[in-house]
Amino acid sequence: MDLKLERKLALVTGSTKGIGKGIAKALLDEGARVIINGRSRKAVDEVVEELSQYGEVYGASGDLATMSGAKEVITSVDEIGDLDVLINNMGIYIATPFEEIDDDEWMKMINTNVLSAIRMCRHYLPKMLKRNSGRIQIIASECGVKPLSAFVHYSVSKTALLGLGRSLAEMTKGSNVTVNTILPGPTWTEGTAIYQNQRGKNEGKTIDEIIQEYFTIYDPSSLIQRFATVEEVANTCVYYCSDLAAATNGAPIRVEGGIIRSI
Ligand code: NAD
Repeated sequence: MDLKLERKLALVTGSTKGIGKGIAKALLDEGARVIINGRSRKAVDEVVEELSQYGEVYGASGDLATMSGAKEVITSVDEIGDLDVLINNMGIYIATPFEEIDDDEWMKMINTNVLSAIRMCRHYLPKMLKRNSGRIQIIASECGVKPLSAFVHYSVSKTALLGLGRSLAEMTKGSNVTVNTILPGPTWTEGTAIYQNQRGKNEGKTIDEIIQEYFTIYDPSSLIQRFATVEEVANTCVYYCSDLAAATNGAPIRVEGGIIRSI
């Protein structure tokens, strides 16, 4: 299938590792030009160099949890060209008991997970509407519709992103621009591996036991009973960046292995 992404310009926020880096690689494999983002210029430069073997890659470092960082990224991106694809991927995941999350930590979560996407969409959606062409994706989580008590502020941030995605999609009516929200479930990234391996060490369990326990205790409704791969999530995102996916707009797209038990 030709996804017709050749030479399209895509920004993937938070793409120095994990799902974002996977999406960047998958877009490059389809011939798109990709802009890597992360807070640290060094990390961005390293990934730009690593991925350059697959295609045309640029860097735009900046902390999207702040307005000044967002401006820095926007300046770098606008020097490269008009964005065809914006993937709002970056997000943080903190487990804190609800009663211990103070206002500062709430604001950090909202700034990092929600306002980062708002800042980017506020700049790029009007431009895409003017050109009558573009794809925006917001990476939420299955936690946005199946909130976890151990991750209240994370879950709330992801529910907000689902609302944001649908609200912005309403603005695209009659145009060739789409805004969709992606809901990954548990995904095996470098970060997941470090976290789960550490748990195994602390509890004297093998990684297989830890994974089995995860799907017995935390996500028993998972139909695949395993973590998704970064590539599985990335390939889904890339398809919805395509012109071929023009009829999917304002949709929550699930890549969560069937955890969410609803029709
Ligand atoms: P990760 O921690 O592996 O990578 C996050 C990336 O974002 C890194 O490149 C990091 O440098 C960057 N980043 C973090 N804060 C930033 C900031 N303020 N400004 C710019 N860049 C910043 O994350 P991941 O596990 O790949 O998750 C990516 C997205 O997918 C997140 O939105 C996350 O909530 C969502 N998600 C992940 C999982 C999972 O199991 N991994 C499940 C559901 C949803």
